[in-house]
Amino acid sequence: IKKLAVLTSGGDSPGMNAAIRAVVRTCAYHNIECVGVYRGYEGLIEGDFEPLTARSVKGIINKGGTFLKSARSKTFRTKEGREKAYQNLKKENIEGLVVIGGDGSFTGALVFNTEFNFPVMGIPGTIDNDIYGTTHTLGFDTALNTVVDAIDKIRDTASSHNRLFFVEVMGRDVGHIALNAGIAGGAEEILIPEEDLGLDRLVESLNRSKTTGKTSSIVIVAEGDKIGKNIFELKDYVDQNMEGYDVRVSVLGHMQRGGAPSCFDRVLASRMGVKAVESILEGETNYMVGLMHGKMQLTPLEKAIKGKTKINLELLRVSDIMST
Ligand code: ATP
Repeated sequence: IKKLAVLTSGGDSPGMNAAIRAVVRTCAYHNIECVGVYRGYEGLIEGDFEPLTARSVKGIINKGGTFLKSARSKTFRTKEGREKAYQNLKKENIEGLVVIGGDGSFTGALVFNTEFNFPVMGIPGTIDNDIYGTTHTLGFDTALNTVVDAIDKIRDTASSHNRLFFVEVMGRDVGHIALNAGIAGGAEEILIPEEDLGLDRLVESLNRSKTTGKTSSIVIVAEGDKIGKNIFELKDYVDQNMEGYDVRVSVLGHMQRGGAPSCFDRVLASRMGVKAVESILEGETNYMVGLMHGKMQLTPLEKAIKGKTKINLELLRVSDIMST
């Protein structure tokens, strides 16, 4: 292999730039050419390529987002679209592709490999931490820090006004962000899709805390949680069934996806970039690089896509004990 391409696809996450940088520099280290593809699979189909050298990726390790831009591509879901993408890669003599993205992007990569036998390697980039085969996805740690910072600020206003805040955080169908940031932010309750507390038990628990002297509370709600139809319905229910609190809602939203990557995410991105390129060079394909037991490890893309991440039960228990 003499030439590789790298792209970012699906939702962006902090650390993607650091991963691109690591891919490009690992190529340079091994005297291999590297091409950046703009706008994910869209750019692959349109041939929107740019040769990247070790110097092209200076000054980006500390930047959120992805300078290659990301996109969702409908055309890549069609055989014609993927055929075009393949022809573009062939024309440029590119012999392998590193895909930084989530499970949708990995599905696309796997389909592409099956059709054209083209070597692909995945790097898990999403703040949700919902990908099997890695204890941390790129951007998860940064998002946690952002959320904890927001909770700290909300707590200031909550305690000044005897308020009860429901704070909605991202995480898709899993509660990793909610559980970790909730514990770190000292949340009263943490509502996650993996465990249904039930509305009555929630009110009971909040009342109990009140009788033990709490004057304000923060409840973290994962966006995938189904305890109420949505967070505003949850607020209404608690408003109607509890007295003495001014209940407010704060939906943190897309700020969670932005910002400078944390030290952890920069180191993780660098390790993943090195591992991804070196694995392709060793002839591996259809894998995702991940962090397991402190080490870089390859997981078949198929498993990474289909496997479910598990919530850490110890964290659940810690959270319960902390809200005593
Ligand atoms: P996020 O976690 O932010 O959603 P993702 O990588 O899962 O990231 P998706 O929008 O699901 O994001 O997928 C990204 C792109 O991957 C899609 O826009 C599409 O181009 C491609 N893709 C997904 N599934 C397939 C498929 N079955 N066949 C071909 N391409 C696919």
